[in-house]
Amino acid sequence: MRMRALADALGVLQEPGGYLERTTRFLAIVGGVTGADRAYYFKHNLDADPPTCSQRCEWVRDGISREIHNQTLQHISYESVLPGALSLLSVGSPCVIATPNATLPLKEILEEQGIKTLVLIPMLAGSTLLGFIGLDDCRSERSWGSEELELLRAAASGLTGALLRARVEADGSARSAEVGRSRRVSLSLMEDAQRAVAAAEEANRAKSDFLAMMSHEIRTPLNGVIGFTELLLGEDLPPRQAEMLATIQSCGGSLLALINDILDLSKIESGKLAFDVVPCRLQDCVSEVAAAFEPTLRDKNLSIHQVFSEGLPGHVLADDKRLRQILFNLIGNAVKFTRAGSIFVRLSAEAVSEARFFLVCEVEDSGIGIPEEDLDTIFDAFAHARNVTHRQFGGSGLGLAIVRRLLQAMGGDISARSTVGKGSVFTFRLPLLLAGETDVPAPARSLPPPREDLRPLRLLAVDDVPTNLRLLAGILKKLGCEVEQASDGHEAVEMARARAFDLIFMDILMPACDGVEAALLIREIERADPLREPAYIVALTADAFAENRDRCLAAGMDDFLTKPVKVASIRAVVEKVAGQSGPVG
Ligand code: ADP
Repeated sequence: MRMRALADALGVLQEPGGYLERTTRFLAIVGGVTGADRAYYFKHNLDADPPTCSQRCEWVRDGISREIHNQTLQHISYESVLPGALSLLSVGSPCVIATPNATLPLKEILEEQGIKTLVLIPMLAGSTLLGFIGLDDCRSERSWGSEELELLRAAASGLTGALLRARVEADGSARSAEVGRSRRVSLSLMEDAQRAVAAAEEANRAKSDFLAMMSHEIRTPLNGVIGFTELLLGEDLPPRQAEMLATIQSCGGSLLALINDILDLSKIESGKLAFDVVPCRLQDCVSEVAAAFEPTLRDKNLSIHQVFSEGLPGHVLADDKRLRQILFNLIGNAVKFTRAGSIFVRLSAEAVSEARFFLVCEVEDSGIGIPEEDLDTIFDAFAHARNVTHRQFGGSGLGLAIVRRLLQAMGGDISARSTVGKGSVFTFRLPLLLAGETDVPAPARSLPPPREDLRPLRLLAVDDVPTNLRLLAGILKKLGCEVEQASDGHEAVEMARARAFDLIFMDILMPACDGVEAALLIREIERADPLREPAYIVALTADAFAENRDRCLAAGMDDFLTKPVKVASIRAVVEKVAGQSGPVG
């Protein structure tokens, strides 16, 4: 995201307009995207002796003082005000200064402007220093990471290219050869900057792919840990052991939630997230998410009030799973950070056209609140507000980062306002389309009680990981079913060729012949035999992304379950298939 904004900033430098005007727009993007409070450009006065620099352009965040007319920022002597900075900048190194460590008179100047940390990034043309970009943090001290500094260096390089071009264009009397040379230097600097941004984007994508793969690998053994714990908890155990198992289950659940978040974030960052837009009811989404918190609400003596404005459309087209995920995070935080009082979830609509509107959703709590200076940064990954200790409340700090990115990917956005000690309000806006009433499927019926009139099933479980296979067999045994097992797609196809199954649980990610391929082959075998009832094939996969589900359904599978599999969901499938009439083996 940040890199994309930096690429935009470099684009601004190519736009028409005066150099200073373009630079100010460029600084606004760089300042905004890095979360800085002030961004500026200082010109290095080439002919001054001793060397000096002067401020030329500035951007400031709302509420931060403007310093562009501050005369102390003109002809600053490096030697007396910025000792050591010139030698760093001249060799291309950034210079980071924290106000408490600054020496006088710089410390005084920084304190007057309310600066806590500043970073200066050199603008070098070959070995000549032309100036620097500076970024101030006024709300809190900041330590700049090497990745961020690398991007700022790319931005400064782009600005240097634009500066050289502007000088050449302004210097009408320059000889044409000189003009040509400067233009080439300028273009090559701009290209370098754009190449650096592209390389950083590529590296980020590779990191996200790696994370996605690792998360997947971690979920597989975790599937075994959580699944077997659930099975064991169903046994008659001494209380102490049951308590320890419950702890294992809850830790496993937290670990799984963290892995899911990382997987989500990396999918979003690598641009692989697909949205599954279906007709749904907004009111149901809110009520169902709120219901999930009922036990905690009871324990904490809290209540959630759902307020739906009059003009709110009932039926919309949306990715309801993602919408629930967003609501789950926001309502979950409201519940987590509120000790007493109420939580309000308000939904209203702003009409755009007959078919389109903006959903406006507010989640308000009366909890601990968020310090003003953290209201922006809490949307960064792994960020916590300073009034929150991880030990006290738990949480990875990924929830809001995912929420913001999901909303932005769907064309919306989110903001927060808060008063410490009084509470917070998170407001998101999301463009949605209206759906016809008939488009919305009836809500799924709840599971009927276990039935005794169920026919015995011929079952096959397919998974290349022995733990998963044992777990599935264990769950099915508990449900009174015997199951045959195959440890890869080929084996499953051969078994299905030899005899018909009623129900097949099919893992997707398997070497040689994966679940999708195996399902396609099994459907072929079934089509070739008109006497055969097709098996009910359920895909089992470690991730729940829409593209995966679509692939499975397109291959002729009937259902889709995500790992770790739960006893209840396996039971639901077994009862559904066993309740259908069909030939009994
Ligand atoms: P997590 O809650 O897992 O730490 P989030 O990304 O959901 O991660 O939230 C980031 C931080 O934002 C939290 O650690 C907390 O400091 C702050 N925060 C989020 N929601 C609230 C809220 N409703 N009230 C107070 N602080 C909140």
